[in-house]
Amino acid sequence: MYDWLIVGAGFAGSVLAERLANERNERILLIDRRNHIGGNAYDRFDEHGLLIHQYGPHIFHTNAKQIFDYLSRFTQWRFYEHRVLAEVDGLLVPIPINLDTVNKLYGLHLTSEQLQDWFAGRAEKVGEIKTSEDVVVSVVGRELYEKFFRGYTRKQWGLDPSELDKSVTSRVPTRTNRDDRYFGDEFQFMPRHGYTRMFEKMVSHPNIHVMTQTDYQDVRYAIPHRRVIFTGPIDEYFDFRFGKLPYRSLRFEHVTLDKPLHQPVGVVNYPQTHDYTRVTEYKHLTGQEHAKTALTYEYPSAVGDPYYPIPKPENQALFKKYERLALATPNVWFVGRLATYRYYNMDQIVGQALATFRRINETLPLRTESPPALPISAKTTALAS
Ligand code: FAD
Ligand code: UDP
Repeated sequence: MYDWLIVGAGFAGSVLAERLANERNERILLIDRRNHIGGNAYDRFDEHGLLIHQYGPHIFHTNAKQIFDYLSRFTQWRFYEHRVLAEVDGLLVPIPINLDTVNKLYGLHLTSEQLQDWFAGRAEKVGEIKTSEDVVVSVVGRELYEKFFRGYTRKQWGLDPSELDKSVTSRVPTRTNRDDRYFGDEFQFMPRHGYTRMFEKMVSHPNIHVMTQTDYQDVRYAIPHRRVIFTGPIDEYFDFRFGKLPYRSLRFEHVTLDKPLHQPVGVVNYPQTHDYTRVTEYKHLTGQEHAKTALTYEYPSAVGDPYYPIPKPENQALFKKYERLALATPNVWFVGRLATYRYYNMDQIVGQALATFRRINETLPLRTESPPALPISAKTTALAS
C-alpha cells in the first residue's frame, strides 16, 4: 500500500514526491507515461554527446530565493543570462524590444529618453487592456506590434493576439534601455549537469518508487494507494466530461550540425518568416564544448502532447467547471501546469508544489497516526463519487 500515487514526474510531481518522502516519511509511487522523469524539462545527451532539451529550451529564472534555495539542494548551477534575437525585416535585433532594437531597425541614434517619446508618439490609446494585442499596441504602437508580435503569436497559438488574454504577451516586456536579457529575474541559472540529473537526485529516496512508461489508467485500480496527486491534464482525469480543454502543442525538430556554432545567441525568434517560431542552440545554454552543435526548431501544432494551456476567457470558464469537480474529489490533489491549467514557468510550478505540500502537511495527520488504509474497493468508490 502506497501512501501516495503521484501521476506525472515533472516538477510538480517530483517536488511533491521529494517533500512527502523526506518530510513525512511517506511511501510514494511516482509514475509517468513517458519513458523518463523530468516532464517537459527533461534533457538528454543526443547520439553525438550533445546535451539537448527534448521538449524545447528550458531556462531557469526566478525572483524567489526560497525556490532557488530549494532546488539548490539537488543541483549546482551554471550562471546563464538568456538572450534572444528576432529576425525582423532581414535583421537580427534584440527581443524584448529595447533601445538597440529600435535604433538598428530604423537606422536611428535615439537616447533612452528620446525613445520614450518615440514610443509615446506611436502608442495607441486603449481603454481597458484586455488582450495580448492591447498590451503591445498600447506601449510600442501598431508597426512594432505587427513586426514582432502579430505573426509570431498567430503561429504559436493559431490565434490572433486580439483573441488571447493579455497575460500571454505581457510575458515579454518593452525596455527603453540597452538591457538585452530575455528575463529580468534576480536568479538566472541552468542546472550545471542538466535538469534530468537534478530530477534524479530529487526523487532518489528509498520511499520513492519510480515507474516510467506507466499511465495512470494502468495502475489506478491495480496498485493500492491511499491518495493521489495528479499533474496531468485535468480534463483527461475527468474523462472530458465537459468537453476538451484546449492545449497548444509543438513539434520539435532536433538537428545536429557539423560545426561548432550556428547562431550568435541561445534562441532566435522568427516572427515574420518560416513555419517554426524559434530556433534554439543548446551550447549557449549549457556551455558545452563540442565540435558539433545541436539545434531545436519548434513548429506549433493543434495536435500532439499538451504543452501550453491557452489563456482565453472561455477556456478559463471551462477549466473552472473542472476545478469545481476537482475540489469535490476527495483524496486527490491537482497540481502543475496541466492540472491547474495555468501558463506557469518552472519556478512557479515549484512554488505551487511547495505550497501544496504545506497545505497537505497542515491538514493530513502523519501516517503513523492515521487510521488503517482504505481497501482499494472503498478507495475506488471514494474516487468515483
Ligand atoms: P509537466 O512537465 O508537463 O509534467 C507532467 C507529466 O505528467 C508529464 O511528464 C506527463 O507525461 C505526465 N502525465 C500526464 N498525464 C499522465 C497520465 N495519465 N499518466 C502518467 N503520466 C502522465 N519554464 C521556464 O521556467 N523556463 C523556460 O525556459 C521554459 N521553457 C518552456 C519551453 C517549452 C517549449 C514548454 C512547453 C514549456 C516551457 N517552460 C519553461 C514551462 C515548463 O515546462 C513547465 O512550467 C513545467 O515543466 C511544468 O511542470 P509540470 O510538472 O506541471 O508539468
Ligand atoms: N511573443 C511574440 N514574439 C516574440 C516573442 C514572444 O509574439 O518574439 C509572444 C507570443 O505570443 C509568445 C508570448 O509572447 O507566445 C510569450 O513569449 P515567451 O517567450 O514567454 O513564450 P514561451 O517561452 O513560453 O513559449
